[in-house]
Amino acid sequence: MKRWGILQGKKDNLLKDLKETTLTFKKLGERYGVSRQAVHAFSKRQGIKRPLRAKGHQTGECRLCQKLIQISKKPHSEFISIHTIRKEMGVKSGRKYLYHLQTLRDRGLVDEKFGRLHSKRAEKAYAIYFTKRLPIRTIGRKVGYKSFYSIIQWHRGLGYDVPPSLYVYDGRERSRIKSKIQRRKQR
Ligand SMILES: [Zn+2]
Repeated sequence: MKRWGILQGKKDNLLKDLKETTLTFKKLGERYGVSRQAVHAFSKRQGIKRPLRAKGHQTGECRLCQKLIQISKKPHSEFISIHTIRKEMGVKSGRKYLYHLQTLRDRGLVDEKFGRLHSKRAEKAYAIYFTKRLPIRTIGRKVGYKSFYSIIQWHRGLGYDVPPSLYVYDGRERSRIKSKIQRRKQR
């Protein structure tokens, strides 16, 4: 049993690896120069209880997942477009990040809405909406929306959490809008 001979000298190390790592018998066999079956038999003889291998993707150890979580912690992160997310992750193209994104959503580690916005224009509009005290119409005009207001309503309908506008419509503004609507109706 020459093969076991090799193992004899490293028995303590193998015992330690079996008890403390989740390396497969095959991998351990390679490491100690014996067959997978030999490692298995050895483990059984010693009555070793192997540590459980964690199931599924290890988000805690995944660079992409960690980066996604980091981005998702920014305020109003569900309004960061997928283009920007990709750029920040250094993923130029492809759908490589999608698996990680969905895994994180499934486990509740990022918001369900995070990474679903595709429109760069909407991202731009919301970035203004969240930071500047401007009428919705003005923001819409800046980015080229006919009605940013209806975009907001649409997103609210989809379940996006859109807070009220920072811009406070005073009485004059309100009556101006009202009369404008009136005029439109008359036309
Ligand atoms: Zn990942």
